[in-house]
Amino acid sequence: MSIVVTGSAGRIGSRVARRLLDEGEAVVGFDLRPAGIDHPRYREVIGAFSDPAAARQAAEGAKAVLHLGALMSWRREDADRLWEANVTGTRMVAEAAAAAGCRRFVFASSGEVYPENVPAYQPIDEDHPLAPRTPYGLTKLLGEEIVRFLGRTGAMETVILRFSHTQDAAELLDPDSFFSGPRFFLHPKIRQQQAFGNAAAVAALVAVDDGREALVLSRNENGRPFAMHITDTRDMVEGILLAVRHPAAAGEVFNLGASEPVDFARALPLMAERTGLPLREVNLPGPGVRYRTANHKIRERLGFTPTWTIERMIDEAVAARSARQRS
Ligand code: NAD
Repeated sequence: MSIVVTGSAGRIGSRVARRLLDEGEAVVGFDLRPAGIDHPRYREVIGAFSDPAAARQAAEGAKAVLHLGALMSWRREDADRLWEANVTGTRMVAEAAAAAGCRRFVFASSGEVYPENVPAYQPIDEDHPLAPRTPYGLTKLLGEEIVRFLGRTGAMETVILRFSHTQDAAELLDPDSFFSGPRFFLHPKIRQQQAFGNAAAVAALVAVDDGREALVLSRNENGRPFAMHITDTRDMVEGILLAVRHPAAAGEVFNLGASEPVDFARALPLMAERTGLPLREVNLPGPGVRYRTANHKIRERLGFTPTWTIERMIDEAVAARSARQRS
């Protein structure tokens, strides 16, 4: 019997697959791309989640399915692909898992189902209303509903994990990273805001640009610094393994992420000090981002113990940046 890991070529799925193999499990990866894993207990299905034949092939002989793959996009032109990958795809993967007799199905949802950046109250716990504001968040909520439906109708045990924003530490100080570039680096942030058509944000950012590479500390229109959870991929792996194995996880929904949000007013000066990059500060139009999400439930019920603080992640990010600059 194997454990299926969808999104096996991705940031989180690839680490989960390798970890399960290290622990002696047989693993089936399912992704559009190969994971580059060469192991006698690893089988791979290359295909789309929405393809029922590929989903059936992946689920064959599965005792558990970790549905960690998805399209993460906030671009308007990706609306159809989002639905196909995250809604139709989740349905096909979940139904194939149930038909194959899979015992437990773990689904990677997201804090965007609340959404975390527009909280009704804080800290955001699992009882917070679900009112996504992006098509991506909507596809995650619909994915949850598909999974809840299969759990309710007795097809298999289900566990929904609402993932925190997650990064590899090595990505944190990489201006070319999909996440970190626009979050922490001035020029990628200007390009992102131009692409979103946010003229006022672009004007505020361009006003602090002297042409040199720089880090940027984002504040809202009233000067309040951004703060959000940034969880190291390795902590996420620990939480996902608890979700698939712990008896008390069955039928539950858990927020999964770091215990403390990262306060940009503390983290960005540290990043600047450690990289020698100049730090620009900018007040962006609007309410900005500042939230705290509770991970008490998964800590108390399953014993989840995250260990990667932002300071530890920055240590590793600095080393990775130096290695990239040397090569
Ligand atoms: P990732 O983008 O690194 O990996 C996703 C993988 O899914 C990729 O390898 C991609 O090829 C595969 N994929 C996408 N569409 C597919 C399709 N239609 N058919 C087959 N494969 C497909 O993402 P990640 O950071 O590892 O995130 C894993 C999961 O966690 C995703 O479900 C994501 O929505 C969720 N999540 C991530 C974050 C985060 O900050 N990284 C936050 C909240 C939720």
